[in-house]
Amino acid sequence: MTATTSAKTHAFQAEVKQLLHLMIHSLYSNKEIFLRELISNAADACDKLRFEAIKNPELLADDPDLGITITLDAEKATVQIEDNGIGMSRDEVIENLGTIARSGTREFLDKMSGDEKRDAALIGQFGVGFYSAFIVAETVEVDTRRAGDDTAVLWRSNGDGEYTLDDGSRTTRGTTITLHLREDDKGFSESHRIRYTVQKYSDHIAVPVKLVGEGENGEVTIDTVNQSSALWRRAKSEISDEQYNEFYTYVSNDSEAPLARSHNRVEGKTEYTSLLYVPSRRTFDLWDREKARGVKLFVKRVFIMDEAQAMLPNYLRFIRGVIDADDLPLNVSREILQSDRTVDSIRAGSTKKVLGMLSTLSKDKDKYQTFWDAFGMVLKEGIMEDHANAEAIAKLLRFASTKSEGDAQSVSLADYVERQEDKDAPIYYLLADSLSAGRKSAYLEGLLAKGHEVLILTEPLDEWLVAHLTQFEDKPLRSAAHGEAEEAKDDESKDDDGLNEQYRDTSARMASILKDQVSDVRVSKRLVNSVSCLVAPEGELGDHVKRMLRDAGHEIPTEQKVLEINPTHPMVIRLANLEDKEQFKEW
Ligand code: ADP
Ligand code: MG
Repeated sequence: MTATTSAKTHAFQAEVKQLLHLMIHSLYSNKEIFLRELISNAADACDKLRFEAIKNPELLADDPDLGITITLDAEKATVQIEDNGIGMSRDEVIENLGTIARSGTREFLDKMSGDEKRDAALIGQFGVGFYSAFIVAETVEVDTRRAGDDTAVLWRSNGDGEYTLDDGSRTTRGTTITLHLREDDKGFSESHRIRYTVQKYSDHIAVPVKLVGEGENGEVTIDTVNQSSALWRRAKSEISDEQYNEFYTYVSNDSEAPLARSHNRVEGKTEYTSLLYVPSRRTFDLWDREKARGVKLFVKRVFIMDEAQAMLPNYLRFIRGVIDADDLPLNVSREILQSDRTVDSIRAGSTKKVLGMLSTLSKDKDKYQTFWDAFGMVLKEGIMEDHANAEAIAKLLRFASTKSEGDAQSVSLADYVERQEDKDAPIYYLLADSLSAGRKSAYLEGLLAKGHEVLILTEPLDEWLVAHLTQFEDKPLRSAAHGEAEEAKDDESKDDDGLNEQYRDTSARMASILKDQVSDVRVSKRLVNSVSCLVAPEGELGDHVKRMLRDAGHEIPTEQKVLEINPTHPMVIRLANLEDKEQFKEW
């Protein structure tokens, strides 16, 4: 800790200040995750270097064995984590260690400031891992030198509002992070504790993690603590559930166990290994297309990229894991990825694997419900995006219906068809603003009286969904609110033609009075209790879609609806018997 006069003081971004305050004052459980976070950053730095060295091999030349070294000093109460990865330039240090650019930060801060358990395990999920160093350290120093640069930078802070930048002392590329432990956390400078923690959290890290300690006679000992082989390349039988789950935490930053996984070695024309997981909860970048990360792509164990949509279609962007391809060139770019046939075949194969994994998961109703509640909205996009797999996706959809309990979307199209009494009837659905409004809707009265089940769709995307999903296993999907209703009433109800005849005059009188408001007035076959309802003509766009098109600046002609009246309702009967023209108009 030699502060020189050349040191420049910088203020943290406000969010970082707040975050650090929380780290220091509120996190008491799982403190040891700081090690996981720092090791994972060091391993990322090695991955990035390896990737840059594909184009620029001299970056690696003088020091090709990438790795991480942890050095402990119990006397000084320090932990030092060093890597010979990519390092950071001065600008990168300011950008990466002084600000947080993530969209989830606000949410994280809110969550941590609330009454919820303040568990440090939440940290990685929000991509603020580096700052976790302050959970155990009163001062953190980062001495770093970017590969290819000839000077190093020293970043130092004690977690209050600011940090200083100074000349660093590293003479080779990479980063050394030194933690000066707090009084209460000095235990972390003991080698058995660090060893245990590395094995618990970072066993699968693909570069070796070495621990430098002191032997019984005071001599320096160095040993590799982790397995340091890419987990996905090991045989399934050699990997325990814990190891699989730890690896999931590493690739997803999510500390909750995944709902399902699928580990495959594919051989033949295209050879690759995939290890894919279904998370049990949403990540914060699910709706953020810019920042979203997806499955990590490796080529022969070299990390290439983890941008969402590189390896799986957009509607599967919640899936986490790795795909390691044998036959891609190491210098694949995003552009090549989009048009490469090998990539296409890996993408198609992996998509099928994921859909298969979800289909297997769907046999466990509880787990599948957890999945659907978290990601159903995203999966639905697949019906529109992926025609080749639309049938498989349709089987995975779940809906609320007039027969489902509570607000869970738990009815599959197969369930619907299976319990349908009238096997010739279509699959009925109703687009509604809310489930309760949908269930009470006048449009359904006739159908319900006949014992039909109606799916109630309440999400904005559902209108697009039904526009694309027009049938399921040969059964058409039909809106309960569009067009003329089916023969909905019981046969014992009065003969329709007679009724129509009787009320034709009434309808016509009403239509002429309401001609500016509705396109027609007709006798309803769908109503049982309600007096009337407005029906959109068959094929008309739904309200949500119209709103979206209008928001996007499109002109939408306002089509008038049809007013349907219920001929059995006392009010309509009264109306039909009203002779007085003025009184009729008023009614
Ligand atoms: P994340 O790892 O999710 O990006 P972190 O807070 O853990 O978030 O790290 C912030 C950034 O700091 C990293 O993205 C990386 O650019 C940089 N960084 C952290 N540690 C290192 C390191 N050892 N070597 C190089 N860059 C690092
Ligand atoms: Mg990190």
